[in-house]
Amino acid sequence: MYDVIISGAGPAGSKCAEILAKSGYKVALIEKDTNWRKPCGGSINSRIFKYYPQLRKMNFHRINGIKIYSADFHNFEYKWRDALDYSINVDRLQFDNFLRDIAVDAGAELFDKNLSYDFITKENQRIGIKTKSPSGLREYYGKIIIIADGMSSKLAKRSGLKKKWKTEDIGIAKCAIMEGENSLDKETISLFFKSYKGYGWLFPLEDNKFNIGCGLIGEDSLKYNLNQIYKEFWNDPNIKKFLSKKNYRKIWEGAYPLPGQGILEKSLYGDNIMLIGDVAGFVSPMSGEGICPSIVSGKVAAETAINAIESEDISKLTLKNYKFHPTIKKIARSFKLTLSLVDFCFENQGQNLSKMFKIAEHDDAFREKVINMFLFSEAPPKDFIMKLKSEN
Ligand SMILES: Cc1cc2nc3c(=O)[nH]c(=O)nc-3n(C[C@H](O)[C@H](O)[C@H](O)COP(=O)(O)OP(=O)(O)OC[C@H]3O[C@@H](n4cnc5c(N)ncnc54)[C@H](O)[C@@H]3O)c2cc1C
Repeated sequence: MYDVIISGAGPAGSKCAEILAKSGYKVALIEKDTNWRKPCGGSINSRIFKYYPQLRKMNFHRINGIKIYSADFHNFEYKWRDALDYSINVDRLQFDNFLRDIAVDAGAELFDKNLSYDFITKENQRIGIKTKSPSGLREYYGKIIIIADGMSSKLAKRSGLKKKWKTEDIGIAKCAIMEGENSLDKETISLFFKSYKGYGWLFPLEDNKFNIGCGLIGEDSLKYNLNQIYKEFWNDPNIKKFLSKKNYRKIWEGAYPLPGQGILEKSLYGDNIMLIGDVAGFVSPMSGEGICPSIVSGKVAAETAINAIESEDISKLTLKNYKFHPTIKKIARSFKLTLSLVDFCFENQGQNLSKMFKIAEHDDAFREKVINMFLFSEAPPKDFIMKLKSEN
């Protein structure tokens, strides 16, 4: 019998497992496949070091600036002020396994090649989960169950806490890790906004590798064809400036959905259950950045579970402290504000974004706010919108 069972060993699940195991709890971390590379840009801002200081010693590719282009190719560059403040670009296969190892070193038991598909119930109470593994069906029993298995989660739906995703509530993105001669600045990530809701990116990696991708959000994920958008992005003359060669070697390519409406506040907890990470909407509706927010949700859920087990009350009355934790409330609030800005920014085929970048080209304070909004999901202050509206 485990104290806590976590379904999904992505960033959210691994952080959650690490904290619980470090505090002496018996944790089962269930993962469908540790060889699966999550489709992702792999760009992670400096906040990650607060949760994983050991990453500073690793060789993940360092980034110290960002260049953002609007649909009409207005652009501005921003360099981090502090050398300690660098961000990293990672290959998710390597990164996710690094976080899993930390959880295992802390004492969590990782069960690989286990696909969770249902709960075990007794007298109408969830007492564990069922998985499919190469050796057959397996059962794991635990006091608290944490769902961290991302957008494809079967358990989230079965829990009754959350309905199936509606297409207009999610985004979809496609990306690849490629290798070949390119003229990307090795320390700068580039975002390319377009006339549709979404953006394309070029993220340099070590050697001559890079991550290239693009995504659609909201109703535009229904209006446009992602494969077509992706092909056009590759062939865009402005992208060709960086990628002028013909033969790039594809290391990997994939597409995947991501939540687009911010945190699902009504779906975060129930009796002896919590939802964390993507499955609970911890992704910025503006930038699609979800690795750090998911890790934060995993940390807060772990702390909530510890308090619940200590106080011998694992009911929703105690687990609601996860939803009402100041950090979770702060992220939810900031996602709500940025969500309300998404429509405004992309109005008239991205014209407001073009205006925003035009101002940012010459106004340092304004530029910083734009950066904070895209990189750190910080909602801009009221005067930001006023300035944007007043710009001709
Ligand atoms: C194309 C794309 C690009 C992105 N780019 C960025 C970016 O550059 N930076 C950023 O911060 N965010 C980015 N995101 C968002 C980011 O990938 C997610 O927010 C983040 O991975 C969420 O972590 P998680 O642990 O909640 O879920 P996941 O990373 O999805 O992890 C879920 C884990 O559960 C496992 N699993 C799934 N189903 C089951 C099951 N039934 N049983 C057991 N295990 C299961 C999976 O194998 C996986 O290991 C991107 C998303 C997409 C789709």
